[in-house]
Amino acid sequence: MPVRSRLPLIAGALLLAFSGVRFVTGIFVTSDTPAIGWLPLPLMCLLTSCTCWQTSRHPGLDAATRRFWRHVMLCCVVLAGACIGNAFDAFAVPGDIQHIGPVTTALYLGILGFAVWALMRLPAWQRSRTEWIRFGLDTGIILITTGVLVWHFSLSRTEAWTAQTGSAVPTLAVAMVASVSVIAFTKVAFAGTGGLDRRSMHILSLGTGMAAAAGASMPLFAARPQLNTVFIAVPIATFAAQLAAHRQTSVSAAEPVERPVSRRFSVVPYLAVAGMDAMLLGADLTASVEGKLIAGGTVAITALVVIRQITTLRENNRLLSTVDANLQQLRGYQAQLAHQIRHDTLTEIANRANFEEQVTGRLSDGENFLVALLDLDDFKVVNDRLGHGTGDALLKAVSRRLHDRLRAQDVVARLGGDEFTLLLPNLSDDEAAAVLGRLIATVQEPILIDGHEMVPRLSIGVTASQIGDTPGELLRRADVAMYAAKNAGGGRWAWFDPAMDRLADQDARLGADLRQAVSRGELHVVYQPIVELPDGRIAGVEALLRWRHPEHGDVSPAVFIPLAERNGAIIEIGRWVFEQVVTQAAAWQHEYGAAAPGRVSVNVSARQLREPGFVAEVAAAITAAGVNPALIVAEVTETAVLGTGAALDAVHGLNALGMRVALDDFGTGQSSLSLLVDVPVDVLKVDKSFVDGVTSTSPQAVIVDNLIGITAGLRIQAVAEGVETADQAERLHQAGYRYAQGFFFARPMSGADLGKLLQPGPVPA
Ligand code: C2E
Ligand code: MG
Ligand code: MG
Repeated sequence: MPVRSRLPLIAGALLLAFSGVRFVTGIFVTSDTPAIGWLPLPLMCLLTSCTCWQTSRHPGLDAATRRFWRHVMLCCVVLAGACIGNAFDAFAVPGDIQHIGPVTTALYLGILGFAVWALMRLPAWQRSRTEWIRFGLDTGIILITTGVLVWHFSLSRTEAWTAQTGSAVPTLAVAMVASVSVIAFTKVAFAGTGGLDRRSMHILSLGTGMAAAAGASMPLFAARPQLNTVFIAVPIATFAAQLAAHRQTSVSAAEPVERPVSRRFSVVPYLAVAGMDAMLLGADLTASVEGKLIAGGTVAITALVVIRQITTLRENNRLLSTVDANLQQLRGYQAQLAHQIRHDTLTEIANRANFEEQVTGRLSDGENFLVALLDLDDFKVVNDRLGHGTGDALLKAVSRRLHDRLRAQDVVARLGGDEFTLLLPNLSDDEAAAVLGRLIATVQEPILIDGHEMVPRLSIGVTASQIGDTPGELLRRADVAMYAAKNAGGGRWAWFDPAMDRLADQDARLGADLRQAVSRGELHVVYQPIVELPDGRIAGVEALLRWRHPEHGDVSPAVFIPLAERNGAIIEIGRWVFEQVVTQAAAWQHEYGAAAPGRVSVNVSARQLREPGFVAEVAAAITAAGVNPALIVAEVTETAVLGTGAALDAVHGLNALGMRVALDDFGTGQSSLSLLVDVPVDVLKVDKSFVDGVTSTSPQAVIVDNLIGITAGLRIQAVAEGVETADQAERLHQAGYRYAQGFFFARPMSGADLGKLLQPGPVPA
């Protein structure tokens, strides 16, 4: 810090030292020039005003702090006036320099009052009603204590002085008000207020306190009428203010530090009572006025402290009840949180963690129980087609149905997505079969959600607990069984069988190989003719995929197609097949013209249909091959398009491209004749299982007979699949079928071999 900015402080220190030395020597030596004592006072006041003024203009300080220092500056200016007034009072009564006139007293009181007011304008002083009451009570306590103390130790002992100066009241009043301002400074220092420096407040508080004590001790110097304690009181007070203002500017650059509110100050009332009690013990209560004063003061202070105590107690009670209410609320939140941690937010049933915890508990108790894993078939489609809101509503409805169907000791939990799990204790195998059968029947009842009628389908895998199991292992086994139930067509339940694990292992290995099959060139497409009845002329072909595995040889499509659908490889494989097929169709067209197959069918799985962008990909492949889309038939299964939005949309999309659509394996899935209206069907492929019984008097034969009538009415071509004998072909022709496919006519063959059949000539039987 530059020395120049310290000059006022150095000057203040010198003036204080001068006043101090002069006062102390004045005690022992009578001065010839008592007037000199007054000279430094206005000077010091003005010096301090300058320092405070500089502080009040410091740009690093906030507005409230700057305003406070402006107020202190004003106090110092007025104090300069009061000192001059005091000097006049002193000279007005010759020989008694200790006299104070009423104007001077009023100025001193005004300055202190103004200081207290300035403190109260600080933001930290925005207090509650109770705090104001407490401050009022503290002020009362301090006023009485200071009054009695000053009276007892100073004024009462020097009647001569009182007689000399006229009245003790001014000194008493100034001392009392000064102590109130000390309290105010100290309170602010303890509470802390924004940018106002606490240490500066302590310095101010100390300076005012010392000045008040010096002022109040004036009667003790009655024997030295050329001395006035103002000579030392004012320099102490002003130098303290100067120091404080100086410190404020030097720390303003630092960030204000938030400190916890100190409660030390609350001992002051008790100290006051103790002090008064001590005086009471030493006082002669009966005779003297002073004794009565002390007794009265003690009673008053005790009363104030009691009131203060009651106020504090009431405040504490109020705070305690607030804390109680907050605690109550907190407990509520805690309970809510504990519930949330253990429950699924959507369905409100137990969540995975909760379920695993219960399974662990029962396993360690050595209990026997069953764990079932439930999965909704085609739930993804509901979400994709009808939105997540409807999907969520379906999950809630399913969880309610499960919950309602179970016994009190059973646990139902949601693992996530459309997966639920059950913990079923004390059930024999037969009972479990009955329970699971009922569960499936209940969940699969039609339900109306957001105006959509849905028929949820549920697959369940179930396993029994064994010694050494973990929740993870139990869920894994239930999951394997659940997949077996799904592979078997879904809408059913299956016990876990260790053989499933082996199958699952094989599945996983084969699945991994399948992903490489396209790039390794292990796949090829064969074509099976679809012929006209009765002459057997080739009307079209169906493309069928083959996989020659390097180790296992030919793998049946019945094995690898479902596998590819499960692991997603069907997307890439299906794309490759489609490209092969359209290229082949274009080649036949080019080579054989009118003799080329009029229809080329390609199988499209549900998974492909649901894939976003599938229709666009098909369109691109058709364009790239330069083939007429009307030649290409997409064979889709009933289950793929039944009630499933994205797949149905894709089928409409294919139709819009100009392609034909065939409903494959008709009669094996959840056949619904309404499908023939909803789906733009051109061809209906009656499944082999019906064709097999066509020559007998079986119900299949009746269905085969009736189906032809329906297809004719709807202008749909019917193709009989899996024709193996001449009798079947004959019987189908009689029933009205004009198209058929089967080993009786031709087996699937390579594109080149099929090309040979397209040469003019008879089709080999
Ligand atoms: P699908 O679409 O119903 O195909 C007809 C199946 O019946 C073929 O079996 C064919 O070889 C067989 N078949 C034809 N005539 C007879 C017969 O007279 N008797 C007997 N027993 N079977 C006959 P394949 O090639 O094993 O294909 C099985 C299934 O695999 C197909 O049934 C189809 O659903 C699927 N698939 C085949 N290739 C593809 C493909 O490229 N993509 C997709 N997504 N699925 C395919
Ligand atoms: Mg087919
Ligand atoms: Mg078929």
